[in-house]
Amino acid sequence: MSEGKILPEIITPSNKEVIVVGEQLNGEIRPVTLELLGAGRDLASKLGGSLSCVLLGHKLEKLPQKLISYGADIVYVADDSILENYQTLPYRRVIVDFLSGFTLPPHIVLLGSTTCGRDLAPRIAAHFETGLTADCTELDIGPYEHTNKIDPEKVGLYPNCLYAIRPSFGESLKARILGPWKNPQMATVRPGIMLPLKPDENHKGEIKTIPVDLKPEDYRAELIEVVHEVSKSVNLTEADVIVAGGFGLGKQDGFELIKELASCFENVAIGASRKVVDIGWIPYPYQIGQTGKSVRPKVYIACGISGAIQHRVGMSKSGLIIAINKDPEAPIFKFAHHGIVGDLYQIIPELIKQFKSNIVKEEKPLVRQN
Ligand SMILES: Cc1cc2nc3c(=O)[nH]c(=O)nc-3n(C[C@H](O)[C@H](O)[C@H](O)COP(=O)(O)OP(=O)(O)OC[C@H]3O[C@@H](n4cnc5c(N)ncnc54)[C@H](O)[C@@H]3O)c2cc1C
Repeated sequence: MSEGKILPEIITPSNKEVIVVGEQLNGEIRPVTLELLGAGRDLASKLGGSLSCVLLGHKLEKLPQKLISYGADIVYVADDSILENYQTLPYRRVIVDFLSGFTLPPHIVLLGSTTCGRDLAPRIAAHFETGLTADCTELDIGPYEHTNKIDPEKVGLYPNCLYAIRPSFGESLKARILGPWKNPQMATVRPGIMLPLKPDENHKGEIKTIPVDLKPEDYRAELIEVVHEVSKSVNLTEADVIVAGGFGLGKQDGFELIKELASCFENVAIGASRKVVDIGWIPYPYQIGQTGKSVRPKVYIACGISGAIQHRVGMSKSGLIIAINKDPEAPIFKFAHHGIVGDLYQIIPELIKQFKSNIVKEEKPLVRQN
């Protein structure tokens, strides 16, 4: 606090725009972009500003309109054959040129903590010599009082700072990280954390084309071929149902039972706790939790997972959590919506039998709980 003194208000000028750097793949908007628009809408309202999305790609057709229906007031589109697939240098150039074109800088720029977002965000932040907080799980707007006299020029009250919030110290603390000195204030956000808005076809927005002016140094790498992974499994962050296995499976083969249970559902993915990843029962991409993926499926079935805090942070926002554990005191029962106490090797086969014989019928589609 400012020890009773009234601090001068220091406004770092911006155009009050919140800009989401969108991602598309094979003609589809990545879910994280829609999630960021949901979070961005809230920030823009608190700022009294507007929400935009910048989308790079080729033959984007209806995608900009989709972004408007998910809350964007303006969609800036860069369409060029070289932008069809993500490439670091061309994407960096277009976005840096685009952001440099504003008379006053945007207030906030958000990207997903995806492979592309993590590659691009620091390059943009470095160009503008601005702060970047990676892997956020919450975002907000608020003031910051700077009273440190070591740098007297900076002493003052900074309104409208981006509060970039992320877990730290093994999830025991939430760190609120601020970069009040300069706009745009930047953050990357974990996929599967923020909620998208309900699409509204009546939401009005503008689509603006932005130039693609690449320089010879942007062509240092040539994309020869894109090889798509052939996988029947659904991306964990996009699945409606996740069946996850933990150390309670007792052996690697236990995942066969998990797969069989998963086969009872549509749009389903397999997940795992870190303990079973660490002992090599299943590869790392399946890991859910603090050091794995954050997920928000409609249904999460945890089988033989204790519910340690580091696992919980990655899945606790699931719509419906069902836990199967033989220990009635297991921490997972404190936050699961339904718990089944017992040996998973007896319970799961019975569940499979019931699902397969259609005794359990879905009466109405499950929806995400906000
Ligand atoms: C910095 C840090 C980061 C971490 N990141 C992650 C992360 O991203 N994700 C993550 O998951 N963990 C993470 N961990 C590890 C975490 O703390 C736990 O150790 C881990 O989640 C435990 O995995 P588990 O629940 O599978 O195993 P356990 O804790 O051993 O639990 C096994 C559970 O199975 C039950 N069980 C046993 N047999 C049966 C049976 N036959 N039928 C039914 N139930 C049975 C037991 O009662 C027990 O509750 C992290 C830890 C640290 C320190």
